[in-house]
Amino acid sequence: MRVAVGLVLCLMLASVPVASAQSDSNEDEAWPGDPIDSHVHMTWAALTLEVNGWADDYPDIVDLADVGESELGKTLWVVRISDWSMETKANGSVKEIVYIDGGHHGNEYLGTALAYLSAKWYIDGWVEGNQEAVDALQNTEIHVLIMLNPDGNDIDTRWNINQVDLNRNYDHYWNTCPTTQPGSSAFSESETAANSDYMNTVVPNADLYVTMHTGVWIMLYPWGKWPEQPQDWELYHQIREDVNQDISDIPIQNANQGLYPNCGTSRDYGYGVMGYPTFTFETDDEQFVPGSIENLNDRLGEEMDVMRYLITNVWYWRARLDVQSLEIMDDEITIDVENMGQASAANTSLQYVDSNGNALWTSSLFTVNATNSSTVTLDAENLSMTTDGTWQLYYQIRVVESSRWVAEPINQSVVATVVDESSNLLIGYGLFNPVSIIAGFVLVTAFVHREESDETDV
Ligand SMILES: [Zn+2]
Repeated sequence: MRVAVGLVLCLMLASVPVASAQSDSNEDEAWPGDPIDSHVHMTWAALTLEVNGWADDYPDIVDLADVGESELGKTLWVVRISDWSMETKANGSVKEIVYIDGGHHGNEYLGTALAYLSAKWYIDGWVEGNQEAVDALQNTEIHVLIMLNPDGNDIDTRWNINQVDLNRNYDHYWNTCPTTQPGSSAFSESETAANSDYMNTVVPNADLYVTMHTGVWIMLYPWGKWPEQPQDWELYHQIREDVNQDISDIPIQNANQGLYPNCGTSRDYGYGVMGYPTFTFETDDEQFVPGSIENLNDRLGEEMDVMRYLITNVWYWRARLDVQSLEIMDDEITIDVENMGQASAANTSLQYVDSNGNALWTSSLFTVNATNSSTVTLDAENLSMTTDGTWQLYYQIRVVESSRWVAEPINQSVVATVVDESSNLLIGYGLFNPVSIIAGFVLVTAFVHREESDETDV
């Protein structure tokens, strides 16, 4: 039976046994499990009942996956939440993917509870018709592995059953920091092997990864390995600014500086190997007020506000290049590119591709910084145009080396070929070699013709 009693009430009635406090009238919001000492402990069995109940009750939005086993054979559950009646967003584009895990350390209840709540908030919201939740599930897949270390959870210990610290067992600079109990090798434990397998096979393109723990109240971004800021520092700093200004005072720091050097963590693996934007979310370690159990939504309300911000805005956590104009002029191409996202793009090039998507020509590399626009002039001396060629941008969506490459078509309506009207002869353009003059002429007439004035400015 859940009970609720506020701090003030608790102090006023310090001599009153907890059992006599009022019953929680809202069982539905309870964290499933029993009070033990100063916290509520959810066993793996209770979690299993809960997540299977979600899948049974809400099949339209909850897809429950068995993604592996703990060392003692307990199922690792991933709750996948989205509007599964839609394979894509309403506009046909791909849904963003959020990956969350909790419970690496079996004695960190509030961290595990935050992972649980992150799933439950969107399920409850959908059922109640909450517009934020409905929009999120139409545009996003949220994958939550609530309890990664059920063996450790059930015996109230940090380690897994082999006495390994699972959050030092990942294959990113494994065992290269002063550390304890990282395991016999990277991914020696079934729990971390299952987690990385899920990342690599099901959510390799996740747009956000948050791993949840309990400790000092802080959010940590990469790296744990190095004190330097990560390559995508602009993205992390922008998120910090937004969160601290509008949502919560929670400190947000690079893990090495904010905590201590740590290696082989899921956070550094998620960023350094998978290329995800990644946070470790550490709830505070005060657990619940001694002798009382608060409603979980109240206890972790501020943390959930931060999570909702990260999920609502997940579309922005990468570079999103939008070409405003592309002008072909003699042996040069000038493009105006706007970055709609909040990460810088790395290794960007303009490509001219045939109908099979093969690049016929690739420009030199250029950079588009986070949240701004760039005008870039590219040498196009070697470009030969064809009748069916189209333009695309090819780039990495974040700066870290492991980040994903994308090829995104440029809307034909922004492409213009600038004709020098003083000669008015295509033969005068080095852009077109003799064999493609005719093809080029067809293209030029097809393009939106723009006047020469102002078009040559860079
Ligand atoms: Zn932890």
